[in-house]
Amino acid sequence: MLDKYDRDINYLRVSITDRCNLRCTYCRPKEGFSLKGHDDILRYEDILRVVSQAVKMGFIKVRLTGGEPLVRRGFVEFAAALKKIQGLQDISLTTNGALLDKFAEGIFNAGITRINISLDSLDEKKYFQVTGGGNIDDVLRGIAAAEKAGFAPIKINTVVLKGFNDDEVLNFVDLARKKPFQIRFIEIMPISEVNINQPQEFLAADQLLNIIGRHFQLEPVNGKKHKSDGPARIFKVKGGRGEIGIINSVSHHFCATCNRMRLTADGKLRVCLLKEEEVDLKEALNSHCSDEELAGLIRRAILLKPERHDMDCTDRHLKKCYRDMSDIGG
Ligand code: SAM
Repeated sequence: MLDKYDRDINYLRVSITDRCNLRCTYCRPKEGFSLKGHDDILRYEDILRVVSQAVKMGFIKVRLTGGEPLVRRGFVEFAAALKKIQGLQDISLTTNGALLDKFAEGIFNAGITRINISLDSLDEKKYFQVTGGGNIDDVLRGIAAAEKAGFAPIKINTVVLKGFNDDEVLNFVDLARKKPFQIRFIEIMPISEVNINQPQEFLAADQLLNIIGRHFQLEPVNGKKHKSDGPARIFKVKGGRGEIGIINSVSHHFCATCNRMRLTADGKLRVCLLKEEEVDLKEALNSHCSDEELAGLIRRAILLKPERHDMDCTDRHLKKCYRDMSDIGG
């Protein structure tokens, strides 16, 4: 379905839980956040109903995220049920990988074959620090399990934090040279109150490309190699097996081609990551709304989508949105 600005809105990112087994410094506060109770989040049946309706309205792509999707009980069975929705062409998963060792094969067999795994440091101590206590070995085992299970492409999400992991960027590029991974360098975004130091931590993607370009020869991948690359700029590392992706949502908006909506764990359709407008679906689902009513709410959300957000990095006064990323679904 087209929005007011002629964009075809066909991609739904679904946060299936606000809970997470990690506490990444830029994603959620160490304390002081309130976890939602079981009754406050959508039941799997409700998510399946929303996705089925969205697919009837032209959505073709879903990404499961959170919080950490793999901490929600019954995830694999839910993924298998999602896979059965006729017309849904593409299902992918974003995970921190900490539990992937246990679940990779089951998820793959359920029909999810594309995965993004978050990894901000290759150094054990720094990984522990940025994730608020995570063990890098769990993730490395998870990545190995994903490779073994057959996931392709495997994408690694790396949020670049100036003064913390920018000295590791070349190590990550080297990883993409050796392994058939796509390393996606992500600009930190001003989400919630967590990122109080964000202007100091922000490293613009173009600066990052300059750093990489001094050591590696990058070849732009013409067109989109994977349909799933979305707004990422993709480069092949010359002579290497993998790729680099640059996600510069802050320094270069991609609002003009934005095709996404987000379903939050508590059942709101969020029309733009960085705007507060949401349409509540949970109340309607709880009161057994008809399919027409549900379709009407989805349509309303699509028509509420703004032309663009106003996040900026030039004046060092970054605008924030007020929910945590783990709440909205990154
Ligand atoms: N728990 C899963 C994970 O770690 O991948 C899925 C949820 S997490 C919110 C999804 C992605 O959002 C992760 O790659 C994370 O690094 C990214 N993210 C979280 N907060 C961010 C921020 N402020 N700016 C940019 N990316 C962020």
